[in-house]
Formats: sequence, C-alpha cells, structure tokens
Amino acid sequence: MMKWFKSKRKKNNDANDGVSTDPVIITRSEHGISRKNIDEPALKVLYRLHKAGYQACLVGGAVRDLLLGRHPKDFDVATDATPEQVSKLFRNCRLIGRRFRLAHIHFGRQIIEVATFRAPHGELHQEHHDESGRVLRDNVYGEIHDDVWRRDFTANALYYNIADFSIIDYVGGYEDISNKRLRLIGDQETRYREDPVRMLRAIRFASKLEFSIDDNCKQAILELGPLLGDIPSARLFEEVLKLFHSGHAEESFITLQEYDLFKYLFPDVVNELADKTTAEFIRLAMQSTDDRIKLDKPVTPAFLFAAMLWAPVRKQTQANVESGMPYAVALQKAATKLISSQVRHVSIPKRFTTIMRDIWALQSRFRNHSGRRAYAVLHHPKFRAAYDFLCLRANAGEIEVDDCRWWTELQEKNPEQQKKIISAQQHAPRRRRSRPKRDQGGNQ
Ligand code: ATP
Ligand code: MG
Repeated sequence: MMKWFKSKRKKNNDANDGVSTDPVIITRSEHGISRKNIDEPALKVLYRLHKAGYQACLVGGAVRDLLLGRHPKDFDVATDATPEQVSKLFRNCRLIGRRFRLAHIHFGRQIIEVATFRAPHGELHQEHHDESGRVLRDNVYGEIHDDVWRRDFTANALYYNIADFSIIDYVGGYEDISNKRLRLIGDQETRYREDPVRMLRAIRFASKLEFSIDDNCKQAILELGPLLGDIPSARLFEEVLKLFHSGHAEESFITLQEYDLFKYLFPDVVNELADKTTAEFIRLAMQSTDDRIKLDKPVTPAFLFAAMLWAPVRKQTQANVESGMPYAVALQKAATKLISSQVRHVSIPKRFTTIMRDIWALQSRFRNHSGRRAYAVLHHPKFRAAYDFLCLRANAGEIEVDDCRWWTELQEKNPEQQKKIISAQQHAPRRRRSRPKRDQGGNQ
C-alpha cells in the first residue's frame, strides 16, 4: 500500500495545473529498487551529499529503468545543494553549462550528473516563453516539488530518496510505469510547445519501453509536429541518434511514421517510403543496427544516414547520368545535393558525411572482381560498412545477390587465397553480369 505523505509546506497548487503538491511516498518495502542495482559511483555521490546534510535523489530515467528491471544507461542525481556546494564535496567534480550549471562527478569513464533542483516555467511565467510557447529560460533554482514540473513524462519524474530509500512521486509516475503508460505532466499542448523535442522523446520512450501513448497525446503530436521545424538541426541530430542508436531503431522508425513525425526529420526520404523495396531496405538497416547494439558491436551514424538517403541519392544520380554526367561525378553531385538539403533539418557532422559518400561510392565498385581495383576495394577503410550496405540492398531486393555473395566468399579466404582469386579473375573470361533488378541500381 502506498502512503500519503503530508507536506508541511504551504500548498501552491495554482502554479501547477491544479495537481497536488503532496507526493505519494512509496516506501522501501513497497517497491523493487535495490541498491545492488545502482552503480557504485552513483551511490557514493548520493551518500556523500546526504551525509553533508543535503537532499539527494536519484532521478529521471534511472529510477524508471530500475523499476522496470532494466539497467539504466546513466545515473542522474538531483539535490538541493548548489553546483558550487556540490563541487566543494567532490574533488573529481567539474561544473559545466553556462545557462544552467550542472556538476559532473567523474569516476574513471563514468560521469554522474548532479543537478540542483530547478523551478518550473509554467504558463504563469510568460516571460520565459517565445510566441510559440517555447521555453527560453530554464535557470531558476527551486525545491524538489518545483523540480518535478519541469520534467517531461510522469515515468521520468520519480525521485529515489537516499535518506530512506523511498520513491517520491508527485505525478502518478509509479502507477503509470506499472501500467506501461507514457503520460506528459501537465497540459500536453503547453508542454509540447515549450519544447517540441518532447514529441520525439515520446516516440523514443514508447518504442524503447513498449509504453502506450494515449489518444489525446497522439492527437497533440499530430497537430504540433510542424514545431519541430524550429528546433536547431544540431539538437535534432542528437535526438535522432538517441532514437536510432538505442537498440530500438526499427520500432522507433515505425512509430515516427505512425505519428507523422518522420517527414520533419527526413523530408527528402518520406515520399520514397511508398516504394516497398526502399522501405524494406531502411527497415533492414534499422534491424541490423539494433542487432549490432544488442551484441555490443560498434555502430556509426554514417551507416544509418547513408541508408536513409540512399533512395533519393540514387534517383538524383540517375537523373544526372541521363543529363550526360559520368557516373562517379553524377553520384558525387547527387550526394552533395541531398546532404545539403538534409542538414537543414537534421545536421550530420562532416566526419560522418565523408563516410556516407565513401559507402555510396563503393557500391558501384563492388562490381569489379578482378585485379588492382578489386584489391583496392577490399582494403578500403570503409570496405566493411560498404559491404554490409551492399548486402542489405541485395536482401531488400534492390539488386541481385551475386555481388554480395562473391565478396562474402572472398572475405572467408586467407590473404594468399584472396590474391589468387582476384588475379585469376583478371584472366578469366569476363563474367556475365546479371542485370540489376531496377534501373536506378546505382550500379552502372
Ligand atoms: P535515457 O534512458 O534515454 O537516458 P532519460 O529519461 O534518462 O532516458 P535523459 O535525456 O537522460 O532521459 O534526461 C534525464 C531526465 O531529464 C529525464 O528523465 C527527464 O526527467 C528530464 N528531461 C530530459 N529532457 C527533457 C525535456 N526535453 N523536457 C523535460 N524534461 C526532460
Ligand atoms: Mg538518462
């Protein structure tokens, strides 16, 4: 049974959408969070703050994930100590952020982020919003009951209190987690307007946690999607990475389309999805990313972005070839055009666009099975990514499978055998090439 915690504080409900400021306290014996599952560095930070007389709680995704029996990606701490006070307690502490100072406590490669409780910026604080309702300032310290209201979903707004190992719940998040329900805190439209990225976060959490989004919330997202157009492309890049590199890319891709948000992120791709082969190719790229993440293999954003933009790049290349350009030039021009159009919406750092171009350019070179050229392909630094890309195209039915097979078999041989095969191929009668299934194969 949950116990109601009677706050001695004066109520200030009017600022908080009429929701009570008294939290439900879920005591240690009532919930399943065990300190065994909290990383040592996070416990150290919590205990030291507590011993120094400050409030210290684990917050956000960590509490949510622990309740769901998952291992949290990171552990965030919230406290009533100011960043300067935190920094006095820890030698390994760095203060970051200009607008809102945060303390980062370093333990080897792990960082525990400690944030001071922040006050909300509800509808009453008009001076903190621009005309579309977006939050401009978010830098006022507050108390724990203030801090709750600036969080996005109820499931992300639970506080695990190190003082007595209880969970402090102001918003019904504990119940929502048990019902696998994603619910925004406060008025949905206001909250999405304040920060439209919350719409993408909704898709991400729904996909990752298999939580349901209610119809009202869906309606709000369908209406407010265009607000994503105002978000800096660099922030959207970070968010797209979280959507597609957290092991749930395939599900996120499907949900983004269901909520009609995909078009704001990849406007040049959205119309291509009507083509079954293209849709299947992107789905396979997502699936393979998810598989790699599950196996702890490295992933690069370049691969996913290359897969995403492949259909329009192929089309544009074809058009360029038809207007008389040699294939390699046609491809580079198409790549430049599509990349510069894409980065206006979701930016892609240069170090990744270079790899995307390599992956695309290598596709036609896989047709060479002989001599120096094949050898150069095999030893190209981006061979592996480009080869995976080639095989996904074959699996999606865009091209025949024979090139993918040939390069697969080649890699299974030792370097001596590889040399022999490649040079034998040079003398062999020209291999009959099966035609690509489609004209825009990028394979000319
Ligand atoms: P993940 O498991 O992906 O890290 P998370 O819930 O920890 O999920 P973070 O982006 O790490 O998400 O943010 C930590 C916490 O900060 C969230 O749980 C939420 O309470 C709050 N938060 C983050 N971004 C926003 C936002 N845009 N609007 C409101 N609250 C946010
Ligand atoms: Mg987190």
